[in-house]
Amino acid sequence: MSNSTKKYDVVIVGAGFAGNVMALELAKAGKKVLMVEGGDPFKSDNREVFMQNFFLAMAKTPESPYPQNYNSPRPSVLDIQNITPNSPQGQNGTNPVKDIATNGYFIEKGPMAFGSTYERVAGGTSWHWLGTCLRLLPSDFRMKTEFGVGVDWPISYDDLSAYYNKAEFEIGVSADVEEQNIHGVTFTPGYKYPMQSLPPTVLDKKFSEKLNGITLDGSIVKVTGTPAGRNSTSNKIDGKIYNNGRRLCQGNTNCTPICPIQAKYDATVTLAKALNTGNVDIMYQTVAYNILIDETTKKVTGIAYKQYETKLGPVTGEGVVTATSYIIAAHAVETAKLLLMSKNKTMPNGIANSSGQVGKNLMDHPVKLSWGLMPESTYPFRGPLSTSGIETTRDGEFRKKRAAYRIEIGNEGWNWTMGAPYSTLTDLVNKNTFGKALRQEIASNFTRQFRIGFLVEQLPGDGYIVPSAIATDNLGLPRPEVHYDLSDYTKAGFEAAVEATNTIFGLLGAKESIESSNPPASRPGSFTYNNKTYFSNGAGHVMGTHRMGATPQDSVTDANMKTWDHDNLYLVGCGTFPTTGTANPSLTMMALAYKATEALLKTL
Ligand SMILES: Cc1cc2nc3c(=O)[nH]c(=O)nc-3n(C[C@H](O)[C@H](O)[C@H](O)COP(=O)(O)OP(=O)(O)OC[C@H]3O[C@@H](n4cnc5c(N)ncnc54)[C@H](O)[C@@H]3O)c2cc1C
Ligand code: SF4
Repeated sequence: MSNSTKKYDVVIVGAGFAGNVMALELAKAGKKVLMVEGGDPFKSDNREVFMQNFFLAMAKTPESPYPQNYNSPRPSVLDIQNITPNSPQGQNGTNPVKDIATNGYFIEKGPMAFGSTYERVAGGTSWHWLGTCLRLLPSDFRMKTEFGVGVDWPISYDDLSAYYNKAEFEIGVSADVEEQNIHGVTFTPGYKYPMQSLPPTVLDKKFSEKLNGITLDGSIVKVTGTPAGRNSTSNKIDGKIYNNGRRLCQGNTNCTPICPIQAKYDATVTLAKALNTGNVDIMYQTVAYNILIDETTKKVTGIAYKQYETKLGPVTGEGVVTATSYIIAAHAVETAKLLLMSKNKTMPNGIANSSGQVGKNLMDHPVKLSWGLMPESTYPFRGPLSTSGIETTRDGEFRKKRAAYRIEIGNEGWNWTMGAPYSTLTDLVNKNTFGKALRQEIASNFTRQFRIGFLVEQLPGDGYIVPSAIATDNLGLPRPEVHYDLSDYTKAGFEAAVEATNTIFGLLGAKESIESSNPPASRPGSFTYNNKTYFSNGAGHVMGTHRMGATPQDSVTDANMKTWDHDNLYLVGCGTFPTTGTANPSLTMMALAYKATEALLKTL
């Protein structure tokens, strides 16, 4: 039942962030690539259609521009709910009669709700990423050696440095090297980011004025510009002005969920280049569901798929795609689910899973949000969603006992935290504030709103995913069953974040919102630690589910992301991360994809 008549060097499952990088690099090297993408096709008018969806959506969530597709479904933040022993999806729940439309895609088993989501459309989750492009710290790769917790990566910062350069040029990162060399981060001599740092906002400047030089978590604080995957002023590189052909950022704060003008990088940029080489074919609306192997050699022999024509429609085609080598780049949850679904006689626990680590070690950067009012107007919503942060808190001896975090300075007032500006207006009108009084209140209140987010690190062992035994999607494929919790290590990071909030708000003269300082225990994502209630949000940084490592006993792939069990199978995406580290993960994921491509090319 093979559908591929043409001969391919490589099949890639997933045309998202990681998959597209590998497709482009392989195609540039003259290899023939077939991509299998479960979601809607990449078309020139996608952005316009998505923008219309966004305008019409009542709740402007990260998913709001992108239609749900029951044949290739994705989770949504609107579906996150508390998990109780008696709830249908709870620990004792066995009732599968839950459709995705009313209860969401994930089968959440808790004990905590998993707050992160992703997209299943060509271009993947990069459509709604924020664009933060920090590098990991050298210590992030050595948690076991440096702090005696978690595990070490099988590679060091230095092993990735040159691949980081490549990733930064493909994305078009705006940043200054001088600001980024903290906690041992080094750059190739003479290195320049392709674009200059974006200008700080009024709020960023207030943070710098009030906080620079204080000691927080044992380090001297310095507010710095955040490397961004969005276009600013180009640098001259080797005598030529860098030009990625995209527009300059217009500062309209819509980066998550969608940049209307593609000033922010998304993976369709790389997909378009890959398709233009003429060496890449792609099958859209084609969902991979079974990885087939030769039981003697254990090599992958093909990947079985199901196709559909309409989002609600039935299966319209089935087949197997074949090539010399295979890459799974379907996002940390879907990649692990696909490996676990692909059981056979030789691999009864799933493909690439002789270590038993596939699906395990689910991690995120759970976010502690703190928000309030500045003493004077700092004018949110002028500029990208975030332009600066505090990175000095990311490292220190304290990591032996509790998680580190980076602090993101948000530029969207109370939008993420409370749904402002809509909620601000509704609150005022509900209090019978109209006319001039309403205008005055908005001018004084709305212009002072701000938030910060602490992205807290997590260690392996807090969560895992498996394919559900009882719930399926529209194609009849199992939905992900998610088991998630936070360890005391991460919870202690939240405790420290509250102390830091108090210090920061005190120095700024800011007033913390009551919902921020006293989150209700009933809110999904809440937990209690040392008798205090905390609230954690998902960051969308899903990691760990097919981790790389030094030995086949405790990891799924080697340092080149080749599976230990199957000579011609590679796994890419943030699922390869052994620990979360302290930076948003996608730049590192992209650097790793370049490393994997180089290794794969040597075998083809
Ligand atoms: C709100 C939000 C903000 C974020 N902001 C940042 C940020 O600022 N910085 C940062 O570093 N990271 C950020 N991230 C994380 C980032 O988006 C992800 O790390 C990244 O997109 C993961 O890339 P990937 O290639 O593994 O998966 P994806 O980009 O999700 O791509 C996976 C692709 O595989 C396809 N697919 C899935 N299953 C199948 C199947 N069975 N068959 C065929 N195709 C399949 C999907 O349709 C999709 O196209 C953010 C995430 C969210 C949710
Ligand atoms: S601020 Fe606006 S133009 Fe700039 S990246 Fe964000 S959405 Fe795009």
